[in-house]
Amino acid sequence: LKGAFKPMRDLAKYTGRLAKAAASGERIVDLLETVPDITDAPHARPAPRFRGELRFEQVDLDYGTGERALRDVSLRIPAGCRVGLVGPSGSGKSTLAALVLRLYDPTGGAVTIDGHDLRDLTLASVRGQVAVVLQESVLFATSVRENIRYGRPDATDAEVEAAARVAHADEFVRRLEYGYDTVLGERGTGLSGGQRQRVAVARAVLRDARIVVLDEAATGLDRESSAAVRDAIRALTRGRTTLVISHVPEEVADCDVVVRLEAGRVVEYRPRALPRRGETVDARRR
Ligand code: ADP
Ligand code: MG
Repeated sequence: LKGAFKPMRDLAKYTGRLAKAAASGERIVDLLETVPDITDAPHARPAPRFRGELRFEQVDLDYGTGERALRDVSLRIPAGCRVGLVGPSGSGKSTLAALVLRLYDPTGGAVTIDGHDLRDLTLASVRGQVAVVLQESVLFATSVRENIRYGRPDATDAEVEAAARVAHADEFVRRLEYGYDTVLGERGTGLSGGQRQRVAVARAVLRDARIVVLDEAATGLDRESSAAVRDAIRALTRGRTTLVISHVPEEVADCDVVVRLEAGRVVEYRPRALPRRGETVDARRR
């Protein structure tokens, strides 16, 4: 049933799903696909390589609580555009991010990438082309090198290190006792919060996805660390379609557009820069 929704999902499970998707992309898709409610449609086909135009068309999302987490959200995000998503806690920001990975299907409306409804594409081919960085990145008890390589398992060591340089992680990694071969503890112990986030950003860089979702990725760190993570994010997101979710104005300062959600609705749409030639940016609301 297209768009069917099963209630009774709790927040922890939701966050867990997003975290797993963020950690290892395609590898975890198998796991995600064991979740019975979101599966490949019989007619689903693999997505072509995305250009990255992302649209939400009159999207409603009801988690089954009777109250819609998103209400008639329409956003058209041109390929390569950085969108800052702000709004109070519970306003629907993470829900919007989850829809890009098709962790849920909208109850109403559609989410499209390059004009393809996500429900018409295979899950693996969509999730494999989206990079995600969350507030608390999932790192594994293995080397820094392998942690970064989760972004693209066939990457060479040179590619891993190049991604770390883009993410401003190379310098501190080299100073670790065994450099890239330093083995992290469970949940990335041995690194500071800001360092963990830069490893996660390096992983996302390696992925080379056309679409990037950052959910409070630089939040909750001290000033210096969050500035370093913001620099890394800026490098990661250059030229990619990006959703930057944040409470912190600095984190959305260089976005092309800032969208404010309140109670699941778009209540403000503030372009920061003119769209590039031939592109339009608009948001419709009721
Ligand atoms: P934000 O990221 O802006 O804080 P969320 O998208 O996490 O907001 O949540 C939007 C609304 O949806 C909130 O009312 C929240 O309680 C609810 N919600 C989020 N996830 C779930 C879920 N898995 N099940 C039920 N309700 C949820
Ligand atoms: Mg959130």
